[in-house]
Amino acid sequence: MAFKKHAIVLPSMTPGSSRTISVLRFGKTGARPKVYMQAAIHANEMPGTMAMHHLMPMLAEADKKGLIQGEIILVPTVNPIGQSQLIGNSHAGRYNMLSYENFNRNWIDLTGPVEVAVGKKLGNDAQANVRAIRKAALAALKAMKPLNELQTLRVEIQKLSVDADYVLDLHCDIYAALHLFTAKNDLPQGAIQALAADLGSQATMYNDPYPLASTFSGTNSAMWAKLGEKFPNAKIPQACMSVTVEMRSQHDVSDALGSADAKNLYRWMVRQGVIGGVAAPLQKIKAPASPMSGMDVGYSRGTGFLVYHVKPGDKVKKGQAICDVIDPANPQGPKARTTYKSQTDGVLFSRRFDGYLSWPGQVMYRISGPLPLAHRIGMTGLDD
Ligand SMILES: [Zn+2]
Repeated sequence: MAFKKHAIVLPSMTPGSSRTISVLRFGKTGARPKVYMQAAIHANEMPGTMAMHHLMPMLAEADKKGLIQGEIILVPTVNPIGQSQLIGNSHAGRYNMLSYENFNRNWIDLTGPVEVAVGKKLGNDAQANVRAIRKAALAALKAMKPLNELQTLRVEIQKLSVDADYVLDLHCDIYAALHLFTAKNDLPQGAIQALAADLGSQATMYNDPYPLASTFSGTNSAMWAKLGEKFPNAKIPQACMSVTVEMRSQHDVSDALGSADAKNLYRWMVRQGVIGGVAAPLQKIKAPASPMSGMDVGYSRGTGFLVYHVKPGDKVKKGQAICDVIDPANPQGPKARTTYKSQTDGVLFSRRFDGYLSWPGQVMYRISGPLPLAHRIGMTGLDD
């Protein structure tokens, strides 16, 4: 069989409506390494879905030839709740309308339940610990009785990802260069650096030690780091490498990009031993990993409209003008403008479009920098 497909049925929230999530499986159930990959948790972010559109026939072909050594689970559109958010001829998809929470926050931290179930049994055998932790985490999810649609989505999706060796959560930004978010513990394995090189990431940022916000990729990875902190005498490896892949801009959806991204993801899976074969030599990494505390975030302080001086992927210097917020009713020319400047040397990797409305507290841009910035230490990495 080239692939298996099944659907997760979510509980109905209103009379006459019901939604499902399609899950595609390649390779052998239970085989290692296991890759879990999803796209469009923010439902109007389709570059990852497009990459999967090109990747799935490649995986089906590899599976037919018996080349897949491990197990690969793909969920091309993981969020049917967000997919259904058509509002006044626009597609929303980022926030759950019922609770106003960002769909990529509040994923389930399983550290507590795992600690209670197997904490006392964790010892010096790293592989035995990994097996026990994965089993306990899965059992905790199976024991949960979620009441509503979103909570069921989280539980069912984490059942697919919690025991994976590699978790890739495919997103995009409004206007951005390809970039990655990960955690410090994930870096020494080398798989992130290889992914950054294979995908051509222009900025790779790591949380230290793990993100404060419970993003999907953060939650999958952080459980291992948190258990390591709780049980310093037990051997607990970072058994899941988890990463948020920001696949450029919302409108960067094309056959050329999707096909190239699919080939890059496939090659990376060959490199990790998930698919048989020999991977092409690793390309030189475009940017070394840098700390999240080195990421400069431009917050607007006023109202007006935006005009930018730099594009995603541009290298910038500390003090360089990044954008202006223009007060439309101020007749004094340059005095109508408030200019925002970079607080680091680095790469501007995401911004909004020219002409966008600006409001106080709005994130206008992000810049990856090599060194921690005083005004960023202790702040959450993603606050919109
Ligand atoms: Zn997103």
